[in-house]
Amino acid sequence: MTTPTRILIHGASGRMGQTLLQLCAEGEGFRVVGAVARKVGQRVIDGVPQFAASELHGVPQYDVGIDFSLPEGFDAILALSVERGTALVSGTTGLTDAQRAALQAASQRIAVLWAANFSLGVAVLNELVERTAAALPGWDCDIVEAHHTQKQDAPSGTALALGASAGQGGAHPHYASLRAGDIVGEHTVQFATLGERIELIHRASNRDIFARGALHAASKLAGRAPGAYRLRDLL
Ligand code: NAD
Repeated sequence: MTTPTRILIHGASGRMGQTLLQLCAEGEGFRVVGAVARKVGQRVIDGVPQFAASELHGVPQYDVGIDFSLPEGFDAILALSVERGTALVSGTTGLTDAQRAALQAASQRIAVLWAANFSLGVAVLNELVERTAAALPGWDCDIVEAHHTQKQDAPSGTALALGASAGQGGAHPHYASLRAGDIVGEHTVQFATLGERIELIHRASNRDIFARGALHAASKLAGRAPGAYRLRDLL
């Protein structure tokens, strides 16, 4: 039997954190040694020790951290990862330029993987968008994203990443954001010119896809040499 990967979940009380905890409890190969949220109620839930953000330095040793928190929590988990020399997988969106630069600097010392979207479908969509933009120079490019009303950043990190792919292909995308109901995540990339239009659409109906992608990345990233890894490197 192989030793389970020891995981720290940062942002554990949120939508993504709860999905990650559930998948870790159901599956094999992971042992959650700590769950960190902005505040904690109970000390232990389902055998997992809980820590408030202010107690981060007291978490037990772990192999890889998984961060789905908010930008205000990101600096602390990045600093702890560097201090402990542990790998970090992060899906937190809305990071500032300074936070992105700090992540890049940390990759000199630890293995890091940040992705705006951990779904395989969106990884493929990025490639389609770049190819379409390159094949259709001069077409208008618009990216429309829709998410649940609790989502704080706009445009979504995924929309910005799709925009970067369109930019690689030579397009200059515009963005529109919708916040409604409990939409998990929808992205439409539209290319239009006089008389015709292409729409490339990805719809996520279930948060499991992001959590499974993050857990897969975590299992591959633990123990790796320092560097900034991409999801497609580890699939
Ligand atoms: P949420 O609001 O439901 O949960 C946020 C979590 O972060 C909570 O547990 C909260 O306690 C914790 N938190 C807030 N401030 C903190 C701090 N200062 N220190 C430590 N923890 C803190 O959010 P969510 O829907 O679970 O999403 C979390 C993040 O993941 C968002 O940035 C979201 O955009 C992103 N996200 C990314 C992907 C992806 O595939 N990359 C998918 C879904 C969501």
